[in-house]
Amino acid sequence: MAGRPWSVARAIAAGLIVGVLAAARPCRGEEPPAFSGPQAMRYLEAICELGPRPSGSAAMTRQRELLAKHFRAAGGTVSGQAFQIRDRRTGAAVHMENLIVTWHPDRRERVLIGAHYDTRPFPDRDPVDPRGRFVGANDGASGVAVLMELARFMPALPGPVGVDFVLFDAEEYVVAPRDPYCLGSTFFARQYAAEQDGGRATHRYRAGVILDMVADRDLEIWQERHSIEWPDTRPVVDSIWAVATRLGVRQFVPRPKHTVEDDHVPLRMIGRIPTCDVIDFDYPHWHTTADTPANCAPESLGAVGKVMLEWLREQR
Ligand SMILES: [Zn+2]
Repeated sequence: MAGRPWSVARAIAAGLIVGVLAAARPCRGEEPPAFSGPQAMRYLEAICELGPRPSGSAAMTRQRELLAKHFRAAGGTVSGQAFQIRDRRTGAAVHMENLIVTWHPDRRERVLIGAHYDTRPFPDRDPVDPRGRFVGANDGASGVAVLMELARFMPALPGPVGVDFVLFDAEEYVVAPRDPYCLGSTFFARQYAAEQDGGRATHRYRAGVILDMVADRDLEIWQERHSIEWPDTRPVVDSIWAVATRLGVRQFVPRPKHTVEDDHVPLRMIGRIPTCDVIDFDYPHWHTTADTPANCAPESLGAVGKVMLEWLREQR
């Protein structure tokens, strides 16, 4: 009696161990693990539960802590890039901080995947309540949620190219119509350009991609016009949309539509990083109180995540 339960237990334990190994290290020829849209959607909801997250707010600090913890747990190296601005109305100092998540820091040649993680202080396009509550589910949380789910795949990313996720603060610290925007990406691009020019650079970005407003229920990502008109950035666009076509992801429309002033502009114009904007700019709830999780869909996040993951895996 003493031996039998022991060997059964041992057999079970051995089976469990085999099971764990099989889950962690897929055999050759097996399907690689897939990006999960539903998981990304849960991240989007968790971020929105923090409430409005404009630059300098307590909710933004809580979000930063949540993200740093998440990406560290996934194996990334997380660092903050802090700077300050003066609020143009009150003159008070506002703390701003980009968050940089580095995967495979030993790889000198790198790509940057960025998303802004601040939310607009007010839903100023809302027809009823332009000073109402704005949680930025699509405009703010969606790009972040895709990065949170992509993190799971980064430690095993093959090839010689490293990846940095950069969460930009103050993409839209816009309280009055003429306030400047893209402050975090502008700061980041200046630092990067100074490092490159000063011979202090430890790495170089071959390309960048900004993910913004990628969760719309009726997702249609047309090619953004700056991204295709800059000759060095056009190949980045072509390669992403080629992956989408090959994977049958029809949400990526291989034709140009809008011109958008987003974080890719300072990255390319100041940082000289060929950076493409992946954005659905036809979101009916843009900058309104209705930009909530209810108007976002896991299928949309899944479509973007699937394309980005394959694109990263094909970097050679
Ligand atoms: Zn916005």
